Amino acid sequence: MDFNFKTIAEFNDYFKDEKTCYEFLEQQRWDGQPVCPHCGSIKEPYNVKSRSRKFPDIPSYRCSEKGCQLPFTVRTNSIFQGSRVELRKWFQAAYEISTAKKGISSVELASRIGVSQKTAWFINHRLRVMLTETQPELLTGEVETDETYYSGQNKNRHHSKRVKGTGGHAKSPMLGLLQRDGKLILRVLEKGKSNGLTIKPIVRETVSKNAVLITDGFGAYKDLDQEYKEHHIVSHATGEYVRGNWHTNNIEGFWSQLKRGIVGTFHFVSHKHLQRYCNEFSYRYNNRQLTNLERFTDSMKRCANTRLTYEQLTNG
Ligand SMILES: [Zn+2]
Repeated sequence: MDFNFKTIAEFNDYFKDEKTCYEFLEQQRWDGQPVCPHCGSIKEPYNVKSRSRKFPDIPSYRCSEKGCQLPFTVRTNSIFQGSRVELRKWFQAAYEISTAKKGISSVELASRIGVSQKTAWFINHRLRVMLTETQPELLTGEVETDETYYSGQNKNRHHSKRVKGTGGHAKSPMLGLLQRDGKLILRVLEKGKSNGLTIKPIVRETVSKNAVLITDGFGAYKDLDQEYKEHHIVSHATGEYVRGNWHTNNIEGFWSQLKRGIVGTFHFVSHKHLQRYCNEFSYRYNNRQLTNLERFTDSMKRCANTRLTYEQLTNG
């Protein structure tokens, strides 16, 4: 397989038709051996005729397990299920989102892949769900932990959605935990609830007790030194930012990258969707050592069992 391209044009040349995309996805999802997405059977399924009139040559199956016998393709029970958009377009969208440092807006994505803006918006959100790390390993070593606020400023909102009387600062607190030379975990907290009661459980859940914690002097981190190997505090309130190895510059650098990305690309993100945007940015950060192509291939392996319906997205 000549699978090594450097530009989006080469990428699109390679994934020139639906059949190629299906076969590629089968390789990523199943290592090429179909597994029934309904019952999990690995018995070789029957090959059946494609149900798609437009794409009669895409691989389609029926489970050969006695009690199952259900039809499926590689799209079944994946983020691609129930979407009328061709895989070719989904692939391009996934490639764009996994390579764009500051993300890609639905307006931009719509024009690049040739779908409506509403469809592009939905695709973007589904891809963010796909990129979400569901069971991250505990962070260890030196872990910088820091909180910040995303304020959806009124000037970036649509006229009809501006909030009166808040000065535009309906702030969403976010907690970031960054292992130096390792991974990053981001959590959006409830509005007005950034304190020890909300923050400490997240630290305990995501950071190994053998880790060395580095934080600022925010009261929410108080007493964590009793649970962790070491806890170093740089007191920003008294003007201290760096004490030898102890600082939170890496996570703070990430915050400014995230905020620039959100303001520059998306203009405004509502509290309800913010976690998904965080997942998109942390995915790129956590896989920054991979090439664009490796990131795309890796993301495709995660396509299974990550559904997000339009209803969940708009009502959730
Ligand atoms: Zn089955």
